[in-house]
Amino acid sequence: MGVGKFSTGFENFAKLPLSGTLSTMKSPLFSLAALFILLSTCGGTSADQPQIDGENVLRHVERIVAYGPHPAGSENQKKVGEYIKEQLTLSGLLPMTQSFEAVTPEGKVQMVNIWAELRGKSNRVIVMGSHYDSKLFRDFRFVGANDSGSSSALLLEIAKVLSRQKTPDSTFWFVFFDGEESFGEWSSADSLYGSRHFVHELKKRGEIGTIGAVILLDMVGEKDLVIRQDTFSTPWLSQLIWMTAAEKGCVDVFSPAGAVSVQDDHLPFLEEGIAAVDIIDIDYAYWHTAEDTIDKLSAGNLQIVGSVVLESLSEISRRIKGDD
Ligand SMILES: [Zn+2]
Repeated sequence: MGVGKFSTGFENFAKLPLSGTLSTMKSPLFSLAALFILLSTCGGTSADQPQIDGENVLRHVERIVAYGPHPAGSENQKKVGEYIKEQLTLSGLLPMTQSFEAVTPEGKVQMVNIWAELRGKSNRVIVMGSHYDSKLFRDFRFVGANDSGSSSALLLEIAKVLSRQKTPDSTFWFVFFDGEESFGEWSSADSLYGSRHFVHELKKRGEIGTIGAVILLDMVGEKDLVIRQDTFSTPWLSQLIWMTAAEKGCVDVFSPAGAVSVQDDHLPFLEEGIAAVDIIDIDYAYWHTAEDTIDKLSAGNLQIVGSVVLESLSEISRRIKGDD
């Protein structure tokens, strides 16, 4: 993703109310009780709701990072792709691939988008996406446990859970984009290779109109997870998801405070007028460093993000049906 000048710098401001609340707590007993209430509400799922298992998600991350650095076009990235296809197949889905050659500052690079479809009652599609390449760094070993092992792993778990449920209202596509990361300095030409190609192909086949909404996941697993709404994302879709999170008591993770502006794989869809949201925590201390390793991730937080996404789906389906 691209941040830098696009971050609005609300990070520190947004954290103030929480630390203020904790410091005014009267006794350790009270804070323990408050903590218990928080833990017992957020992340819980209603009885009819399928369950995301955060430990399963971490196991997928473990497998992905075990392949080592895996930038687009690398041998390791092929292995990560094989793992994703194998896991989608185990979930009873049929993985599809889209190979293409991208022209990058590193020369021509072969990339592969991977996706699977879960057919619903309606042909209207909700895309759930994550990039599965790790950024190329030559001077240190970068495995990208959070960026973007966390979201790829969570997407595998979401796909598994949903494929075991009764036929959904909307059709779901689980899409793993290659080449999200730039090879050189981030620019509109050097980034988002996979998502730009995916949208281009859909347009070519006249299928872009089938997509009703896109939910993009990126860097969703850190222990200190605070996700703020992204200003590029479609307002009704962001609000619906943050509202779902608030109803579940998950305002510590899906923060109502502050905003960020992130360039990510949702942009090519937004440019075509498709509703899209980026669920991303850009305030990650280990972003694009050798320390972006699995010990920085939290099974509980991955489970929260997965549960909020799952609980939002029926309402999103209802909203996009009206566009038919
Ligand atoms: Zn990145």
